[in-house]
Amino acid sequence: MKALVYRGPGQKAWTEVPKPTIQKPTDAIVRIQRTTICGTDLHILKGDVPEVEPGRILGHEGVGVIEAVGSGVERFRVGDRVLISCITSCGTCEACKKGMYSHCSDGGWILGHLIDGTQAEYVRIPYADNSLYPLPPGVDEAAWVMLSDILPTGFEVGVLNGKVQPGQTVAIVGAGPVGLAALLTAQFYSPAELIVVDLDDNRLEVAKAFGATAVVNSADGKAAEKVLALTHQRGVDVAIEAVGIPQTFAICQDIVAAGGRIANIGVHGKSVELHLERLWTHNITITTGLVDTNSTPLLIKTVKSGRLDPHKLITHTFRLDEVERAYDVFGHAGENKALKVLLES
Ligand SMILES: [Zn+2]
Ligand SMILES: [Zn+2]
Repeated sequence: MKALVYRGPGQKAWTEVPKPTIQKPTDAIVRIQRTTICGTDLHILKGDVPEVEPGRILGHEGVGVIEAVGSGVERFRVGDRVLISCITSCGTCEACKKGMYSHCSDGGWILGHLIDGTQAEYVRIPYADNSLYPLPPGVDEAAWVMLSDILPTGFEVGVLNGKVQPGQTVAIVGAGPVGLAALLTAQFYSPAELIVVDLDDNRLEVAKAFGATAVVNSADGKAAEKVLALTHQRGVDVAIEAVGIPQTFAICQDIVAAGGRIANIGVHGKSVELHLERLWTHNITITTGLVDTNSTPLLIKTVKSGRLDPHKLITHTFRLDEVERAYDVFGHAGENKALKVLLES
């Protein structure tokens, strides 16, 4: 079969590799119909995730059809259409019993990281019963790939950790796909104000179309002042950080109101400065976390009912064998006005 193989920092190739086989009774093999590229894949290619070894097939998002199941798989049969969760989980270890699938003792984020991933014609999924979701018939398949990672990430780590409530003022710092996923799912809770901060005017336009009540371009370094002006100097109840650099985390600390919450989603490669000299009196809460994907069944229902339309996040579509070109487009997302790029087999 063909797959996108990581060859070390800066190097990748769409190349012939052995087709995966069942290794444990709880495994399933899925024929990939649709997959996508995540910002995390770009981090891996830069060499930021050193545990990814050369030879690894990238990708942790996808939908497909079950090609084979191990003898221990009970919920799925050959031919079933499935959504692949970016998080693999056994369902029985201590972390899984708490719903913290991202900390599963034999799983977590391993696809396209510690085991071969989904940017391939076929993928092996461990603990298939707990790591795959059946796709309801008659739905827009393209949109489902957005439920593998970005929608549960924006929702769980941004909106749920941030405890967004009706009537609140919420700021989302970063309008990439995950920030936009937080913007879409925050609206389940009817906040009064949804302010989106980003450097890119195109993404801010998209944010407005997706329901932002105000947008702030942070290119001049005055984002915090502008958000404070929009909130009569009070600040925001929830600041969702969806970038992962010291500057954006600093904005969140500057704009959080007394009693507010900072929900960090961003993947931070560097330490940030925590301004406790100012915040120690502010009754604030800071949350962090990896997506657990335990909201996926709920999100599937919201998509099925039309309450949530993930298709909006897809800006480009390529054939799976054009994946290298898709990386070029996604890697220059700003100039290509790219959000999510869909790869179809
Ligand atoms: Zn991802
Ligand atoms: Zn587990």
